[in-house]
Amino acid sequence: MTPAMRAILAALAVVTAGLASASAADAAPLVTVVEGTLPIVLSAPHGGRAAIPGVPVRTGTGARNFVTDRDTATDVLTEKTAAALEKALGGRPYLVIARFDRKYIDANRAPADAYESPAAQPVYDAYHGALSNACRAVRARWGRGLLIDVHGQSKETNTIFRGTMNGRTVGPLLERFGDRALSGPDSLHGRLAALGYTVSPPAGASRGREVHYTGGEVIRAHGAAAPHGLDAIMVEFGRTFRATRVLDRTAGDFATAIAAFARAFLPAADAREGPGPRGPLTGSPEQPPP
Ligand SMILES: [Zn+2]
Repeated sequence: MTPAMRAILAALAVVTAGLASASAADAAPLVTVVEGTLPIVLSAPHGGRAAIPGVPVRTGTGARNFVTDRDTATDVLTEKTAAALEKALGGRPYLVIARFDRKYIDANRAPADAYESPAAQPVYDAYHGALSNACRAVRARWGRGLLIDVHGQSKETNTIFRGTMNGRTVGPLLERFGDRALSGPDSLHGRLAALGYTVSPPAGASRGREVHYTGGEVIRAHGAAAPHGLDAIMVEFGRTFRATRVLDRTAGDFATAIAAFARAFLPAADAREGPGPRGPLTGSPEQPPP
């Protein structure tokens, strides 16, 4: 059994242990993991609401950059985006979604700053183990892919921020395609801007400088700089775009942007790319390589 599998089983055991006394929220799995059929991984570490049996609410003693605010509705936004993406591309992204509340574990921090209780570790490890597995699966099947870490912010409620640690988590993507993969018409930001959203940094010829939200542990640990990682982009949705009445539209537009990116920049065939020219992403990834 791999360490990641052990971590997931440990997290499930924690859930089971809580069942005796438990509410429905306790019984829900603490990390949702869905295997995909596209070279795309969606992560949502901050939208969960569930308590973790045996883990107290964090006080943040000794932790750097301590935040416990939930990124409201980012879990639902990620699920809705996956459903819209399936309609657009005919395949499913890999999903890793936290159901536990950020006040127990912050999955977008390094372990030393993510939790204090030893009982939290298996759940934290389950989240990151699932991300590692998804990234490895994408690399094994397609050679490369895109990890998108979905967040919410309330600093500028009508803005969508992009974080790539100013390019560090997308080195191979920039090398291959240049700034247009981050800010051009077929980039996530470029397409969202064309749909009327205010994005930061602004879309355009240059990828610009990322401010306020440059990325956290998810894209650091599983981005292109990691041995198993993928090109990784964090997206921070302003509060306005996460209101219940607009959530379907936000998810649909986000999926449109991801699909544009996939067609322009992601491998199509279910195989490692050769040196030759590459066609657009079409059809099912199940089809054999040409
Ligand atoms: Zn967040």
